[in-house]
Amino acid sequence: MAPIRTARTKPVAAPAAGRPTGLPRYTLIRRGTIHTAADSFPADLLIEKGKIVQIGDVPPGPGMLIIDAKGLEIFPGGIDVHTHFELPFMGTVSADDFETGTVAAACGGTTAIVDFVIPGKGQRITEAAKAWHKKAAGKAVVDYGFHIALVEATPQVLADIPKVVADGITSFKCFMAYKGSLMIDDTQLLAVLAAARRHGALVSVHAENGDMLSWVMEQLVAAKKTSPRYHPVAHPALAEGEAAHRAIALAAMAEAPLYIVHLSCMEALDEVVAARMAGQPVFAETCPQYLLLDDRLYEKPGFEGAKWVMSPPLRHVSNQVPLWSGLREGFLQCVATDHCSFRFKGQKDMGKGNFLRIPNGIPAVGDRMNLLYSHGVRKGRLSPQQFAAITATNPARLFGMYPDKGTIAVGSDADLVLYDPKKTGVVSAKTTRHNVDYSAFEGFRLNGLPVLVLSRGEVIARDGDYVGGKGRGRYLARRPFDLAHWGYR
Ligand SMILES: [Zn+2]
Repeated sequence: MAPIRTARTKPVAAPAAGRPTGLPRYTLIRRGTIHTAADSFPADLLIEKGKIVQIGDVPPGPGMLIIDAKGLEIFPGGIDVHTHFELPFMGTVSADDFETGTVAAACGGTTAIVDFVIPGKGQRITEAAKAWHKKAAGKAVVDYGFHIALVEATPQVLADIPKVVADGITSFKCFMAYKGSLMIDDTQLLAVLAAARRHGALVSVHAENGDMLSWVMEQLVAAKKTSPRYHPVAHPALAEGEAAHRAIALAAMAEAPLYIVHLSCMEALDEVVAARMAGQPVFAETCPQYLLLDDRLYEKPGFEGAKWVMSPPLRHVSNQVPLWSGLREGFLQCVATDHCSFRFKGQKDMGKGNFLRIPNGIPAVGDRMNLLYSHGVRKGRLSPQQFAAITATNPARLFGMYPDKGTIAVGSDADLVLYDPKKTGVVSAKTTRHNVDYSAFEGFRLNGLPVLVLSRGEVIARDGDYVGGKGRGRYLARRPFDLAHWGYR
């Protein structure tokens, strides 16, 4: 197979006014295989001013930057709709900020992210959104949007919903867990669902029953069972299934669509399947960790299990086949990461002696695409079209970015990832771009690697190295949620 060659056919003319210097007017990606959520076909792609302008047989012309993609598979750039960069949480701040987090994303084939604004109690959500804009602007290297967590449903919060929707924040999250801090009750959730629906926004939930969790936690602490191995005990799948069921019922009552984040187990999947079979617009994401890792990791000696302390926790391995099937059959629409990274030394170890104090979360934003390509597509669990759908197209359609993002079509942003199926690698802390000292997926083999990543037509990563400019990411003002994308009226 030919090596990746990028060559200019002729010296590029001086750029037109308003165009950044150094970028050619046209980029032509030749002879690759294009995969969208619908189709796979060989074609050339012509890019002008960051957008795809032609797909098909395109002859090379003067002044074009030519990328030879023979033997490469071209997918829509990944969209990770669940990240937590620079998040103050559990007495510390997540280790990846918008710069390191989005560089890791870019190197791993992800060209857009949606991060969670988490306001403090009593804080205006408009103010919290401003703070997140400040964290991201000039630092993010891929395009970024925000969800807002609604940790209370006060009249002020509800009144501010249309204001943030007008700013392009068209999705919210409510926590049914973290009792005493982020958790809201059913009355508040109903109010949020109804208000969001009125303003064209989608509500997502962290579905775990916070009361059940804290009841178990109290007993574990009383029995001095405080090592990381008790973390999954404190987060039983029963509590996730219960919360999923209740959230779905509340959404039905409010006649609102619902999105369940980081679904991890059969108990919750069954509820989503039942709701969708009954015709209710319920959507859900799972994460690479629930598809590929399991709860035996908490049995590792000493404190090592802390590396995988996250909520929900890793589940019994028997949940993995149903989750892959849920993706394949369309009951689950997205794979996101819930990337919330903490260093093992200096952050995770805050919970030595008490697993309740271990900052929850893992690094994953840079691994998602590669893991799903190798362990999904290459292992025959997902077709290339399903891979495109769950990593890019569905997230774009659910969260108001389609068709600018999430697909390969004339008029769409040229956000692309080019995989070389013949290249191999291994996930390792030694090579990770995440700003942490371990990898949650250490040793996972990769069959096929992203050799080029383009964001709005610009090559930003090559062979896993970031080669784009600093802080080049743009804020994504997202459109309102649209059920018509999903065949509902
Ligand atoms: Zn999260």
